[in-house]
Amino acid sequence: MMQKNDQIRLIIEDMGVGGEGIGHYNGMTFFVKDAVIGDEILAKITKVKKNYGYARLEEILAPSEYRTNPRCELHRKCGGCQIQAMDYQAQLAFKENKVRGNLIRLGGFAADFIDTVMEPIVGMDEPYRYRNKAQFPIGLDRDGNLVAGFYAARTHSIIPVSDCVLGVAENREVLDRVLAYMRQNKVRAYDETTGKGLVRHVLIRYGFTTKEIMVCLVLNGDELPMEQKLIQSLCELEGMKSISMNINTSMTNVILGDETRCIWGEAYITDYIHLRDCSNEAFARTDMAIAYRISPQSFYQVNPIQTEKLYSLALSYAGLDGTQTVWDLYCGIGTISLFLAQKAKKVYGVEIVPQAIADARNNAKLNGITNAEFFVGKAEEVLPEFYAAPDADDSMKSPDVIVVDPPRKGCDEACLNTMLKMKPERIVYVSCDSATLARDLRILVDGGYELKRVRPVDQFGHTVHTETVVLLSQTK
Ligand code: SAH
Repeated sequence: MMQKNDQIRLIIEDMGVGGEGIGHYNGMTFFVKDAVIGDEILAKITKVKKNYGYARLEEILAPSEYRTNPRCELHRKCGGCQIQAMDYQAQLAFKENKVRGNLIRLGGFAADFIDTVMEPIVGMDEPYRYRNKAQFPIGLDRDGNLVAGFYAARTHSIIPVSDCVLGVAENREVLDRVLAYMRQNKVRAYDETTGKGLVRHVLIRYGFTTKEIMVCLVLNGDELPMEQKLIQSLCELEGMKSISMNINTSMTNVILGDETRCIWGEAYITDYIHLRDCSNEAFARTDMAIAYRISPQSFYQVNPIQTEKLYSLALSYAGLDGTQTVWDLYCGIGTISLFLAQKAKKVYGVEIVPQAIADARNNAKLNGITNAEFFVGKAEEVLPEFYAAPDADDSMKSPDVIVVDPPRKGCDEACLNTMLKMKPERIVYVSCDSATLARDLRILVDGGYELKRVRPVDQFGHTVHTETVVLLSQTK
């Protein structure tokens, strides 16, 4: 009988959906975090169940051919990058496999069929420094020094990171300056356990096309002592466009509070998303671009380069020629809607967060787009309401195309059912979770649609997450 703390030798034969290595020993399956498929390892058992268990990687006896030297030495501790030790090409294969596996197992599609509709994952040209947004907690390390970094697992102390390799190089200078200002002016970091102290997080956003920088300090209070000193220091940085404070005085691990005050510059930064040419794998940028204003609270895709490829694919799947009416459900700040509006007759966006809809309307104005209209509400309520409304326009009740881009939990069944009643010619499903995608596709396919194209797009290198864009068309 095997038990906790036993050491075992394992060959990692597979990877779980969370990026953990999977090996077998004495007829039992073991899950080992940080082990890579192909590794031969020594592992220490941490938990035993009936026919499976968990183990900790102790020593790599023979490294997998897919193992690579991770750029961040803290990757195992941080937990943000589950598969950074894996070669990027192997990461892409892992993600492709995960989407394929979910469609087969959870969607009930035949493997042979999936292989005919699935296209190769769109990877990144440069899988580091791709994130345009970073949020660093501020606190004390184990020795009581003021630092920015991430919370060590199961503790309240912070492991200092001055430079996360997924974020832009500019983050480091911003953090150094915020910390220097805090030390010089005796501004205290917030302490999660006591609820005392002032500075909780530093949020940094960067416009990849404009090189504009936004810094927002999240405070347990509404006043920064010697605020001008901080502003003076941050203003020296090239590209600084917006400095603000966000007030969050509740004992919560939600990062942002409700109120944000701009203390210098503009309340937003601007960034552009370019349409790309999807006719070949080069995905070359075209001249068509949409400007977006981003405030500290706005939802905005974190990987702007891959987002261009993802939205361009979604737009090409939509097959628009200027005559179509399109619904864009879960539209956020109108990112996809405004893209679609370039090639559609009319676009209707639906989103649950009122501020995001306000941003979407402003973004439409900013780009001179007049054929997009936005509604606040739940997709599963707004869509059925329009479908049932006697005075709603016919084109709203029977659109040509419906695009959905739901959060991880996928679409509500009421939403899917109304989509089926509306009978659009095409449905484009953009998904950030292939498990719920598989579930929803099954409903759409059983309801009269045919799966035409499936293409994963890697937005989050070194993590186990991936986006997928899918085209369905009405079965004739
Ligand atoms: N398409 C946008 C946003 C996608 S994220 C973009 O790419 O930028 C998913 C969005 O769905 C979020 O903005 C979230 O607020 C919204 N959302 C979540 N549940 C919803 C619901 N039931 N109805 C409508 N929108 C919802």
